[in-house]
Amino acid sequence: MSPVDGCLFCGIVAGDVPADIVRSDERTVAFRDVSPQAPVHVLIVPRRHIEHAGAVGPEDAGEVTALLVAARAVADAEGIGGKDRGYRLVCNVGPDALNSVPHLHMHLLGGRTFDWPPG
Ligand code: AMP
Repeated sequence: MSPVDGCLFCGIVAGDVPADIVRSDERTVAFRDVSPQAPVHVLIVPRRHIEHAGAVGPEDAGEVTALLVAARAVADAEGIGGKDRGYRLVCNVGPDALNSVPHLHMHLLGGRTFDWPPG
């Protein structure tokens, strides 16, 4: 899908909205969350607009793989990717999960320990 008018993360992907970008490639852009919930809190988004993880179809397989590959690269670059560390990947879908930006994004959270189950 082409950039969606008024979509915040399409704006970041296009370079029209400022963001602290830590990595980008052909399919994805990764930038720091403006309201970090952990010492490392990076959002990884596909360049192509997809509404949310619950809207992913077989045609999006390339984007989904690219998000996971990007997450691994960001975690390694942030020093939390080794076998002695770790991180959490989160995709919120819909109001029950408090999804607030309707452009698929994966939260990469790390640099501290996390509870389970999440709140
Ligand atoms: P979610 O609630 O899963 O939709 O996550 C949206 C995330 O986007 C939140 O963690 C926000 O803090 C973050 N966010 C909102 N606006 C921006 C922005 N301009 N740059 C970086 N992160 C943002």
